[in-house]
Amino acid sequence: TVAVVLFTSDLRVHDHPPLHAALAAADEVVPLFVRDPGVHAAGFDVPNRSAFLVGCLTDLDASLRRRGGRLVVRKGPVVQEVCAVAAECAATQVHIAAGVTGYAHRREEQLRDALRGQGVALHVHDSVITAVAPGAVTPVGNDHFAVFTPYFRRWSQERLRDVCPAPRTVRVPDAVRGEPLPSREELSGRSPGLPAGGEAPGRDRFSRWARSGLAEYEDRHDDLAGDATSRLSPYLHFGALSPVELVQRARERGGPGAEAFVRQLCWRDFHHQVLAARPDASSRDYRTRHDRWRTEDEAAEDIAAWRDGRTGYPVVDAAMRQLRHEGWMHNRARLLAASFLVKTLYVDWRIGARHFLDLLVDGDIVNNQLNWQWVAGTGTDTRPHRVLNPVVQGKRFDAAGGYVRRWVPELRDVADARIHEPWRLPERERAQVEYPRPLIDLGEGLARFRHARGRD
Ligand code: FAD
Repeated sequence: TVAVVLFTSDLRVHDHPPLHAALAAADEVVPLFVRDPGVHAAGFDVPNRSAFLVGCLTDLDASLRRRGGRLVVRKGPVVQEVCAVAAECAATQVHIAAGVTGYAHRREEQLRDALRGQGVALHVHDSVITAVAPGAVTPVGNDHFAVFTPYFRRWSQERLRDVCPAPRTVRVPDAVRGEPLPSREELSGRSPGLPAGGEAPGRDRFSRWARSGLAEYEDRHDDLAGDATSRLSPYLHFGALSPVELVQRARERGGPGAEAFVRQLCWRDFHHQVLAARPDASSRDYRTRHDRWRTEDEAAEDIAAWRDGRTGYPVVDAAMRQLRHEGWMHNRARLLAASFLVKTLYVDWRIGARHFLDLLVDGDIVNNQLNWQWVAGTGTDTRPHRVLNPVVQGKRFDAAGGYVRRWVPELRDVADARIHEPWRLPERERAQVEYPRPLIDLGEGLARFRHARGRD
């Protein structure tokens, strides 16, 4: 018997329930990845993530080859390609990880229908992309949790499934043909400082960080210059690492750092269960706030300055330049930069979210859109009137200005006391620094926002 395993956001061999189940049920397995032009048309395969994806696919193929198999890559509409592969190798079953987005749900439904017509069974596996499956825990009277803390309490009590071992051997039928793997030349990134994609670099990064950074994570995760977070988000986005395995391994280590890290992984699951229940929240406000956000046309210059990192607020500019250079941003920086756009400049969160999605190597329709909504105060579990002041936040989370100096070299020689407010330098010194004046007065921005939100 033959089974097909369709890899999507789960590009790994360790702790992979669909692969594990397929190998247990069939003599031969086709590990399949489909490059669907529909994803391209939707604008999600941006250069930074495509470059990371090449690393993931190359690494997955190498892992499978070490086990006697290979990755079969096809190009075309995903449902059509899966059906064609199943027919070519006379497969009786197809295995796939359950997804949460509208796209993933449609794919699953269409696959089930199309495969049924061919007499092929579709097996959908939970807890592959998240640690706890969306919908596995629900509050009384609702299909999802809208508040994080009670979700975290219930999530923490859930018994996670066992971690599946990586397979020893994978036999792939000779008859199935695939395309060559996409190359780095074909899909190159835009940001020069992108990390290497793939399960092996991801596992390596986690092991190193678990030894060197995890214990201090609770104390240091907000320190912008310290850069002390795990940087595992792109590996989690592409499923090169398993969230179940990360939670288990962090819990084995124990301590406050591990607990704080597991709590962040729970935020990821939290957003997944919101979006699974409310797929429209990827573009529509989760909660109506009667905002009259400024549009791209109304705020074109402000938006351009924000995107380019020249707002005149050093920590916001550092954040935006880090995004452009690395395709990644520290969580505190994301909060600051997003708050500045939506609350200080009063620009629609969707405009900021799109820019993040264009560059983030971990750019994720679930975590990006729902975190933007959280910051905008239109999301779940949020304080709608809170505004993060970039000067206060800069002084608090980048006290010595190391983060600003790294990304805004124009300010390298400014003293710590003025690094977050260079406009307050004595005029003679100020004139020597080639750095823009603040785009907007913070008080004015705040007043506009408060006035607008006052209508709620
Ligand atoms: P760590 O601090 O080491 O945390 C470990 C893991 O927990 C992360 O890799 C991530 O998977 C998860 N996590 C941490 N914080 C959050 C959170 N707030 N929400 C959901 N999961 C979380 N994360 C993305 O993965 N993709 C995105 O597109 C994305 N967009 C964001 C946009 C905004 C405006 C904000 C405020 C946050 C966004 N985040 C996003 C969440 C968070 O900023 C990143 O996950 C985190 O900075 C990644 O760095 P890390 O791996 O070092 O995180």
